[in-house]
Amino acid sequence: MPNRHSPDVVIIGAGVVGAACAYYAARSGLTVAVVDRGPVAGGTTGAGEGNLLVSDKEAGPELDLALLSTRLWRDLSATLPPETEYEPKGGLVVAPDEPALKALRAFAEGQRAAGVTATEVPADRLADLEPHLAPGLAGGFHYPQDAQVQPAQAAARLLAASGAALHLGEEVTAILRGPTGAVRGVRTGRRELLAPAVVNAAGTWGGEIARLAGVHLPVLPRRGFVLVTEPLPRIVRHKVYAADYIADVASGSAALQSSAVVEGTPGGPVLIGATRERVGFDRSLSTEALRRLAAQAARLFPVLADVQVLRAYHGFRPYLPDHLPAIGPDPRVPGLHHACGHEGAGIGLAPATGVLLAAALTGAEPPLDPAPFRPERDHGPADVPTQEQQS
Ligand SMILES: Cc1cc2nc3c(=O)[nH]c(=O)nc-3n(C[C@H](O)[C@H](O)[C@H](O)COP(=O)(O)OP(=O)(O)OC[C@H]3O[C@@H](n4cnc5c(N)ncnc54)[C@H](O)[C@@H]3O)c2cc1C
Repeated sequence: MPNRHSPDVVIIGAGVVGAACAYYAARSGLTVAVVDRGPVAGGTTGAGEGNLLVSDKEAGPELDLALLSTRLWRDLSATLPPETEYEPKGGLVVAPDEPALKALRAFAEGQRAAGVTATEVPADRLADLEPHLAPGLAGGFHYPQDAQVQPAQAAARLLAASGAALHLGEEVTAILRGPTGAVRGVRTGRRELLAPAVVNAAGTWGGEIARLAGVHLPVLPRRGFVLVTEPLPRIVRHKVYAADYIADVASGSAALQSSAVVEGTPGGPVLIGATRERVGFDRSLSTEALRRLAAQAARLFPVLADVQVLRAYHGFRPYLPDHLPAIGPDPRVPGLHHACGHEGAGIGLAPATGVLLAAALTGAEPPLDPAPFRPERDHGPADVPTQEQQS
């Protein structure tokens, strides 16, 4: 006999996005169940770096979502326990030469109009912010709104604070539909969880959950590697990256792209991330990716050239071809909502996603226009099912 529970909403996925959806849905007065086939943060969240960046986003809907999230993460940091490791350390984007600096200036100008604080740092003042930076850079921009959390802890703490019923180690194998086609819950290996609303927060596997509900959502994996050094004294104070990282993030190319983002951590290791490539769910080690990251990090911080790398890890970003997440109700299946496809920014964008989702579930006024994130939108020319969608 299946166990039957009736929360107001079932959320599929205990990553940071599912956790934020659970948190804000519960705060809106809804009863919530979260189901995951693995542990909390066992998907891409456990493989992320925890950058909360506005600096890498051009003016537009994703930046609006990031700015809202920045405020929400700050509020959350006052209520979540210190293990969340919220650190408003700020970002520093550096330009190797004058043309790159000129491009950064234009980029920052657009961001400022959208509400971002971006301050130009002349070449001779870069060392004030980062004493170990390589000499000879043309200048940079300081972004004080960039911050950091520990992603797995953040997901776990948000879930605990939500009070949601957790069903871990249970794979969702079916989306249950009623006679009118509306969602009435999910089936797992162990039970049926009945609810009038189901949220697809399955990250990189969001396309498969959509398929279970009979709709198409072209989420693809975009692999990323991260290097972790031996513990060091705090030699890197901000999130530091070169201007070409911004182009890598915005690119839709399947080929290997790498531009190191370097940052110190409270524990001492320096994190160097991250590459981007679309190779399906290929888990093999790419020495080329690691070599490139290490070389780029050492170009930014020459002192890193002699440091030991302790380990490398990888994960699969949930990529939608137009680089915007899918957030909100799916008009093709009443009661089905999506909160997935955040690519390389899901940790940063999680709280705003949760707030938008909670507003959609309760009929409250959303804090920003949700239209650009409509799940059923045309996702662009690359919106065709491919082998990459196979797990
Ligand atoms: C190397 C790397 C570095 C990154 N760095 C950053 C960063 O600095 N800042 C940032 O904002 N983002 C970063 N990201 C991206 C970020 O990690 C993701 O956008 C984010 O973690 C997505 O969270 P999620 O909750 O949507 O997905 P996930 O964390 O993957 O959670 C989805 C969950 O759904 C579960 N699931 C799937 N299918 C089923 C099913 N059928 N039944 C039950 N459960 C199911 C999975 O087990 C999983 O736990 C990085 C990613 C990578 C790979």
